[in-house]
Amino acid sequence: MILHAYINSGVHAHLDATERRKTFYSNVGSLIAFCTLLVVTFSNLMVGQEVMYRIVYLQAPFAALFLLTAWFNQHGWRNAARWNLMLSCHLVILVPIIEPIGGYLLSQIYFLLIAIIPVTFFHTKQKAAIIFFFCLNMAMFFLVQADYFVVSAEMSNLGSEDVRFLRVGNVITAIVAYMAYVWMIEVVAEHSERELERQTVTDVLTQLPNRRYFDLVFQQEVAKDVRAESGLVLAMLDIDHFKKINDSYGHDVGDQVLKHIAQLLRFSTRAGNVIARVGGEEFAILLPSTTLHDAKEAAERIRQIIENNPYEYEGKELNLTVSVGLSRVRSGDEEAQSYKLADDALYAAKRMGRNRVVVFES
Ligand code: GH3
Ligand code: MG
Ligand code: MG
Repeated sequence: MILHAYINSGVHAHLDATERRKTFYSNVGSLIAFCTLLVVTFSNLMVGQEVMYRIVYLQAPFAALFLLTAWFNQHGWRNAARWNLMLSCHLVILVPIIEPIGGYLLSQIYFLLIAIIPVTFFHTKQKAAIIFFFCLNMAMFFLVQADYFVVSAEMSNLGSEDVRFLRVGNVITAIVAYMAYVWMIEVVAEHSERELERQTVTDVLTQLPNRRYFDLVFQQEVAKDVRAESGLVLAMLDIDHFKKINDSYGHDVGDQVLKHIAQLLRFSTRAGNVIARVGGEEFAILLPSTTLHDAKEAAERIRQIIENNPYEYEGKELNLTVSVGLSRVRSGDEEAQSYKLADDALYAAKRMGRNRVVVFES
C-alpha cells in the first residue's frame, strides 16, 4: 500500500500521459536507487572494516535525498524531483570514490547506470539535462577507471577476498538494478499499450465494445462459422422513441438511460455473445453457435428484461422498450449484406408498432 502510494506520488490524472509516465519512472528510479544503496550498505557492513563503516555512515544521509524525489513529485515540482534524483545518485556514488576506495572496488560502474537512465525520466525535449548528465557521468566513469583517484594506504587493510567480494558485488548490484528498472519500464509500456488498445475498441459512454471492435469480431466469427457451420445470428437493437427521453428530460438523462440499457444487455446475454454499441441508441449482438430459433428466444428475453426494468429518475420510472431485428449470417454473405438484413428486420419491427422482435430469413 505504502509502496503503491510512493511510486504513484504526483502521478495525477490531469497530467498528460507522457508526464504521468515520466513522473512514475522517477519515483520508481528513486526506489530502486534506495534499494541498491541498501544492498551496497549491507555488503559494506559484512566486510566490517573501519573504512567501510565510514562509507556507510557518509552515504546514509543521501538515502533520505533519494526519497525526497517522491515528495517533490507530490508537490508538482517534477523537474526538481528529476534533478534531485540525479544529483543524489551522483553524490552517493562519489562518497566511496572521494574516500577514495570506490574506484578500486569498481563502484564507478554506477556512473554508467545513471549516464543512461535519465533519458527515461527526463522529457526528450529536455535535451540539455539529458546530455549534461550523460557527459558528466561518462566522464566520471572514465576518470575513475583511468586510476585518476589513487587508492589510499588504508586499502591495505582490506584482504583480497574482501576486495573480490565487493567488486563482484558492485557489478552484480548495478546490473540487477538496471535490469529491474528496464523491466519496470517494459511493464508500464505493456500496460499502457493494452489500455490504448482497449480504448480504441470501447465506447466511452457505455464502456461496451464499439463498432470497430464489433466489425472485427464479426469477421472472425464468420470465418469460424464457415468451418463449423454451427449457426451465427446477428441482432440489431434500437431503443424506441429515444428522442422523446432526450427532449423531455435532457441529454444527460438520455446518456444515463443508454448506460442503463447497456448494463441490462450485459446481464441478459450469454457468455460468448458479443454486444456492442454501434450507433447513438443502437446496439448489435452477435450470437455464435446459435440457431435462429434460439436466437429469437434470447432476443425476446432481452426485450422483456428491458421492458420490465424501467430507468428510475427523480422517483419516476421511465419505461423503456426496444425493437430487435434478427437475421442469420450466411458464410457467403458480404458483411454489409448481413447488417442490411438485420437492419431491415429492425425497421420492420418499428413499422409493426415497436417493442418487438422480428426475424428475417435470408
Ligand atoms: P425510434 O423508435 O424510431 O427509434 O425513435 P427514436 O427517437 O429512438 O429514433 P431517432 O433516430 O429519431 O432518435 C435517436 C436519438 O438518439 C437522436 C439523438 O439525439 C439521440 N442520441 C444519439 N446518440 C446519443 C447519445 O450519445 N446520448 C444521448 N443522450 N442521445 C443520443
Ligand atoms: Mg430509436
Ligand atoms: Mg436509431
